[in-house]
Amino acid sequence: MTRLSSISAQGKSIPLPTFFPDATRGFIRSTDSIDLQNANIEGLIMNTYHLLTEPGPSVIKQFHGLHNYTSWPGTIITDSGGFQLLSLVYSKAGFGKISNKGITFYRGSKGNKKKYEFSPSKCIETQFAFGSDILICLDDCPAANATEAEVTLSVDRTIQWAKECKQTFLRELKQRKIPESKRPLLFAVIQGGSIKSERKRCADALLEIGFDGYCFGGWPLLETKELDLDIVQYTASLTPESLPKYGLGIGNPTALVQSYLAGYDIFDCVLPTRDARHGRLYVFANERNTITQETIQNFWSFFYPGAEKYRRDTAPISPYCDCYTCKNYSRAYLNHLYVVEDPLAFRLGTIHNLRFYTQVIGQLRSWKS
Ligand SMILES: [Zn+2]
Repeated sequence: MTRLSSISAQGKSIPLPTFFPDATRGFIRSTDSIDLQNANIEGLIMNTYHLLTEPGPSVIKQFHGLHNYTSWPGTIITDSGGFQLLSLVYSKAGFGKISNKGITFYRGSKGNKKKYEFSPSKCIETQFAFGSDILICLDDCPAANATEAEVTLSVDRTIQWAKECKQTFLRELKQRKIPESKRPLLFAVIQGGSIKSERKRCADALLEIGFDGYCFGGWPLLETKELDLDIVQYTASLTPESLPKYGLGIGNPTALVQSYLAGYDIFDCVLPTRDARHGRLYVFANERNTITQETIQNFWSFFYPGAEKYRRDTAPISPYCDCYTCKNYSRAYLNHLYVVEDPLAFRLGTIHNLRFYTQVIGQLRSWKS
C-alpha cells in the first residue's frame, strides 16, 4: 500500500501521518506554544463552536486569525464544533435545537443568554475568519445510541450540510482572491453510525461533491471502550488512498496504530493531555521504544508518577524518552508535584505524554520509508 507522505495547506507542507492534540479553546491546558513545539507537535485542532462563543470571532479577526492570536506557528485544523454542539443538544434540555438548516443554541451567563444560529455556511465563514489551515464541514453526529432512523436522518443532513459548506468554501476563496497554491483545505465527515450501507451512502455522496480529505465521524469505540475496528476499516476503504483520511477523536496509542494500518493519516485525541492531568503518563513497554505488528496491543503502558514507590526515585519517567521533562526532572520530583497537585505537574506530564505520541508518529513514519 502506498501511503501519502504529506499534504499541502495554505502553501505549507504537513507531513503524514500526524497527530494533533486537542487545543479546543485555543490552548492546551498548562502548556504554551514553545512547550508544544519542543514536544515535536506540528499541529493543533481547535474548536469552532467554543471559539465562536469565547473569545468570539471579532477578537480573533483583529489578530488576522488563530495562528497570530495563539502564537502557534504550526498547522491549525478547526473542527466544526458540530460534535460538541449536538452532544449538548442531545444531553441538555433547553440547550438548543437542530433542524435541517443547522443548529440553534443559547449561551451566556447570569441570565443573559445569547442566541446563536450555527448554519453550515456560518460554520465555514467562521473557520475562514479564524485563518484555519484545514476546515471541517458541519456534520450531524448522531447520539451513540441512535436508532436506525436517526442515523439515516443524520446522514441526510450531513450530506446536505456538506453541499452548503462546499458552496460557501468556494465563495470565500473567490471573494478573498485566494490562489489554489495558497488555499486552505476542506474536509468532510462520513457519518452512518455502525450501519455500513449508510456509511457508504454518505461517503459516495461526499465524494461526488468533492473534498480535500475525509474524516471518520461518529463514535469509534465499542461498549468495551475498544476501537470498533470493523467500521473504522470499512469507512477508510470508502475513499481513495490519494486523499487524506482523518480519524476524528482516535485514540489511545493502540487505536491510533490500528487506525493508521486501516488507512488513516491524521489523528487527534484528548487522551494524552487529559491523562497527564490525571497522573497517567505513557511509556514504551520495551527499552528500544519500538512498535511492531506483533506488539500493537502492548507496546505501551501507563506510568503513575503519584505512586508512593517513586518518592525517592532519582530516575526520569523513562530513560529512553528525550522530552524536556525526562531530560530535566526525576520521578521523585514529579511524584511530589503530583501529590501536592501543583500545575507544574500537569505541564511536565503533558509535555512528556505529547512527546510519547510524537514518538509513536515518528515510528509510523519510519515504517513507510
Ligand atoms: Zn519524557
